[in-house]
Amino acid sequence: MVRRRIDPAICLAQHKHDPDRPRHAADGLNLCPGCRTGLSRHVADLPELHADVLAQLPAGSDSAGPAVSGSRETPLPFNPRAGDWLSQTRHDLARITSIVAIERGLIGPPPNAAAQCAWLGPHLDWLAANRDAGAFKDVLGELVGRAYSVIDPGRLPVYVGPCIEILDDGPCAGVLWATVRLDGDPRPSEIYCDVCALALNPAQWNRFGRRYAKTRPRLAG
Ligand SMILES: [Zn+2]
Ligand SMILES: [Zn+2]
Repeated sequence: MVRRRIDPAICLAQHKHDPDRPRHAADGLNLCPGCRTGLSRHVADLPELHADVLAQLPAGSDSAGPAVSGSRETPLPFNPRAGDWLSQTRHDLARITSIVAIERGLIGPPPNAAAQCAWLGPHLDWLAANRDAGAFKDVLGELVGRAYSVIDPGRLPVYVGPCIEILDDGPCAGVLWATVRLDGDPRPSEIYCDVCALALNPAQWNRFGRRYAKTRPRLAG
């Protein structure tokens, strides 16, 4: 399949903020820089989210089937939203990896989220340049967003406020979120933008927070 550039080069993904405003695609791609960053972030985050959603199901179950009874311990109630999410993710990752494998003449990864996402890593620019780049970005973004609605609310990202970064085509339209990790969670706490590449650890946030406090009221006003 020939890689075909859509002209004029406008980002083909959906944008939550100001969705009718066209965004210039990054050079050689069919996604804007923010959506290209988002694509990387989604593929990087999905394996952990998959593990978190799996943890919502009864032990030993990784499918949308009913909880297995008969064990000595009382099974947790089956969580149908977690089951739906896992089925959808299995379907979408299988579809995207098979498109890459077939169109690029490669052997695809084993059918599990961690292997599939790791395997997709070197093909993200190819996906972003594809005529279906917008659909790839939107499907993965929806999986990530829906995962957060399935996972324990205590682990959901916390709303911080509008992003104040200035990008090539103007102010970033994204929203800042903070993930606050519980004890025992190997992932670091982080503040990040859901559109641009901004990502801060708690120490960086101390410094950034002062600039943010000065800039944000001006934006809001
Ligand atoms: Zn975009
Ligand atoms: Zn931003």
